[in-house]
This record gives sequence, C-alpha cells and structure tokens, in this order.
Amino acid sequence: MKIKKGDNVKMMGGKDRGKTGKVLRALPREEKVVVEGLNLLIRNRRPRRQGEKGQRIQFPRAVSVSSVLFVCTKCGRGARLGYKILDNQQKVRLCRKCKAEV
Ligand SMILES: [Zn+2]
Repeated sequence: MKIKKGDNVKMMGGKDRGKTGKVLRALPREEKVVVEGLNLLIRNRRPRRQGEKGQRIQFPRAVSVSSVLFVCTKCGRGARLGYKILDNQQKVRLCRKCKAEV
C-alpha cells in the first residue's frame, strides 16, 4: 500500500467525493485508510443519567485506498505514486506528476 499515515488524500467517491483530508491511520492488511473528517459516521448518544445531555459523536470510518487519491505536498495536485530505488537500496515514494520525493 502506497498511502501512509500523515498523507493528504482526496476522496474520489462516496458522499465526501472531492474533499481532502489527512490520513490518520493506515490499515495495510485491509487496504483501508482512516481520513480525518471524511466518511464520518454519526452516533447519537442518548442521555444516560438525568440532567445529562445526549451527544452526537462523529468519527471517521475507514475507506478503501482505491477510493482515495494521494495529494502531493510538493505540487498540490492529486497524483499517483511511484517508487524509486536509491543508490543505497532505499525505496522512496515518488509523485508521478512532479517527480518529487514524498
Ligand atoms: Zn507532485
């Protein structure tokens, strides 16, 4: 999986299509990511005790990596990622649009 925690991504489908957010968690095994502020699930919690207020709790649900597009921090465009092997055998991610290492 190419997308990592801390990346900015753009939603390509669903109700939040077109919105961008930061990856809070990457779940490589499930090929999913949790994006800040996107694909929110709202739970309404009823007051349990007297005098307590009901709450609406929002939390982001994991979305499939295939429905998000990486947004390059260097050129600001949505781009696919590639890999480059450095001389010291280190693998770095590469923006396919501006060729910058990300
Ligand atoms: Zn770029």
